[in-house]
Amino acid sequence: MLLVDQNSCVGCGICVKVCPEGMAVEIKKGVAEILAEKVDCIKKAMLACPQKAIREIKDKLIIAIGTDDHQTIKANDHVGQSVFFQIFEYSEGILTFKETRENPKYKEDEERIHGNPGKAKATASVLNGVDVLVGKIMGPNIARLKNQFVCAIIRKSKITDAIDIIKENICAVIHEKNKKDGKEKSGIILK
Ligand code: SF4
Repeated sequence: MLLVDQNSCVGCGICVKVCPEGMAVEIKKGVAEILAEKVDCIKKAMLACPQKAIREIKDKLIIAIGTDDHQTIKANDHVGQSVFFQIFEYSEGILTFKETRENPKYKEDEERIHGNPGKAKATASVLNGVDVLVGKIMGPNIARLKNQFVCAIIRKSKITDAIDIIKENICAVIHEKNKKDGKEKSGIILK
């Protein structure tokens, strides 16, 4: 699937000029949007883009969103204190709900001091196979969790809004995931 990285695109319009065929690309709200992938000139537009903003996304990602009520992102404490994690799979521009995982560790975590390594371990233990951890608030343990997951902070309340934000920013998420050196990873704020 081809996507325009909205954080890299500067809206210069070169891709539209290179690929006018069938209105395959257009500029909307200052960034390019791909309307038709299966036209020959899209590859030329990818090569012509000075920002390398048109990307082929093949990745599948497993995403966990911390919640207490299945509707909203955990808001009154760190994501590790969530009662549940809703698990989604990202593929080909779509996020599909897969399962809800209970976080049996959260009660015992309350006993621990924020930033305790055991607390990071407790959170990670219920997130087997997850690539991206989404929360509204992340504590000092982000320094540990970021080595294992893309730690994405989203300030919206509703999980449905978070899903839209993740899809819009999927290039940034994949970029963070692909960083080799844990020191380069810092967690990302998605808007
Ligand atoms: S050429 Fe690249 S930077 Fe310019 S509008 Fe198209 S995608 Fe965006």
